[in-house]
Amino acid sequence: MATNGYEGGLKMIEELTTNAQQIQDEVLREILSRNARTEYLRGFLRGQTDKQLFKKNVPIVTYEDLRPYIDKIVNGETSDILLAEPITGSGTSGGQPKLMPVTAQVAKKWELFRGLSESPVIKHFGDINQASKRMELMFARPEIETPSGLKAASVSTSKYNGSKFRTLLPKLYTSPIETIFCPDPNHGFYCQLLFGLIQRDEVVKVGSLFASTVLRGIKFLENHWQELCYDIKTGRLSDWITDSGCRNAASLIMKPNPEQAELIENICNCKSWEGIIRKLWPKTRYICCICTGIMGQYTTELEFYCRGRPFVSAVYACSEAICGINLEPLCKPSDVSYIFLPNMAYFEFLPVKNERDGSIEMKSNDEDTELVDLVNVKAGQCYELVVTTCAGLYRYIIGDVLMVSGFYNNAPQFQFVERKNVILSVDQEKTSETDLFKAVIEAKALLDPLGFILTEYTSYVDTSSAPGHCVLFWEIKGKEGKHCKELDPKIMVECCSRMEESLHYTYKIYRKRNIVAALEIRVVKQGSFEALMDYCVSKGTSLSQYKKPSCIKSE
Ligand code: AMP
Repeated sequence: MATNGYEGGLKMIEELTTNAQQIQDEVLREILSRNARTEYLRGFLRGQTDKQLFKKNVPIVTYEDLRPYIDKIVNGETSDILLAEPITGSGTSGGQPKLMPVTAQVAKKWELFRGLSESPVIKHFGDINQASKRMELMFARPEIETPSGLKAASVSTSKYNGSKFRTLLPKLYTSPIETIFCPDPNHGFYCQLLFGLIQRDEVVKVGSLFASTVLRGIKFLENHWQELCYDIKTGRLSDWITDSGCRNAASLIMKPNPEQAELIENICNCKSWEGIIRKLWPKTRYICCICTGIMGQYTTELEFYCRGRPFVSAVYACSEAICGINLEPLCKPSDVSYIFLPNMAYFEFLPVKNERDGSIEMKSNDEDTELVDLVNVKAGQCYELVVTTCAGLYRYIIGDVLMVSGFYNNAPQFQFVERKNVILSVDQEKTSETDLFKAVIEAKALLDPLGFILTEYTSYVDTSSAPGHCVLFWEIKGKEGKHCKELDPKIMVECCSRMEESLHYTYKIYRKRNIVAALEIRVVKQGSFEALMDYCVSKGTSLSQYKKPSCIKSE
């Protein structure tokens, strides 16, 4: 199904959202009629395809529940285990890569989804596909081959491997394929920025999948702009880039350009980097990256660098299922909602209730946990997302909490609330990602007037002494040449108190009863968070899909 230009895309969105219920029922019917006889579903449905039977008998599952079935596929069992359709490969997700089936139909759905998600953006910013380029930071991860010979790759890597993407790449993007597939992310980063700068006059869109990668790109630029300018001036790639693919790509593009180098040097030499993206890439119409959810912590800093240009959070999707798009690209990051497209998967929603002031807690297992259909969710209510897909996931709980912000035609729009399983808990106080984020925002406000910026944070539960306590790792940067050593330790003590005051009611009760000891902030060296990312990437996380953990569990 092609979207036939952006107007065709908008028309299709209208049709899909108007007929949401009917399309959802069709999607489920098709999935069940194809797969009701698979080893997995047979046990629950005895070959039948009835929706009510599905709702009554098929359990809500996590990846761990499906692992034995996925392991069989990985090890080459060919009978219909989760799916009747042939499996063409496997998708991966998460720090510890999870494997899941991919079929030809999944690949088609992704292609349609990308087309549809671009339609509202093109409506607002014009068709950037016409005679202009995107500077997108993109990083592929090597494919894994399963014992049965299936190729496993992350969703983004599959996109970069696709023939359509590879054909369009030279025309539409500034990054050559070799820099995307470069095994050393630093070489890839350097070259992608270099080629983006060389073609700066053609660039109309800057971005990456997630806000954190765009910010990392800017920081990389802060550290390397002089060297990049030198390379542009001389037309020679720095010697430390030893990757042969990157060197070959450079030899085709680079020639000495001292005027361009001088222009870039003057821009980067400015005291303030406010609005640097617009200055370096003056034709940029918008910056595209996901900035909701955990990425929300980067928006203040990103707004500073992007000043003068909007940034657009266009999609909400995960390796397991394609979900929603943002119909209002110009809306503020904090207000972004995603409308669910009913043809992408069969969506159900597990209500979650407010047990504490402003925080979200799941219904406990013994309560009645009736799943709600897409069109029956209620505005203002929070839900956990459960998906049934054409790729062999049945009533699979994603782990994301979403809030219904309204409806467009008959389809609901959701704001991303939090990733449920990211929780800091010394005892039973259960601090969610959102709780932590809010408390950090309150505490970091003490640093701002003193000329210091909190650039990154994560957390850790330290139970080496009793009672245990929460540790926050903060990376702090001084504005205009200030050094962190100038920061008065008393301020950090105040930040600790402010965080504790700002955490939720249950946390405070636990503190009062000394079940939890005083919170601690440890200021880490500059670059620690980059090192953390490098470490995760070295352990198999895809750089494109990397999300800094809100809480660190490992030593
Ligand atoms: P992955 O499967 O590695 O691509 O990660 C998918 C997860 O990333 C989702 O389950 C969400 O937790 C998060 N995510 C994806 N898109 C968004 C978005 N637009 N806003 C907030 N979080 C998102």
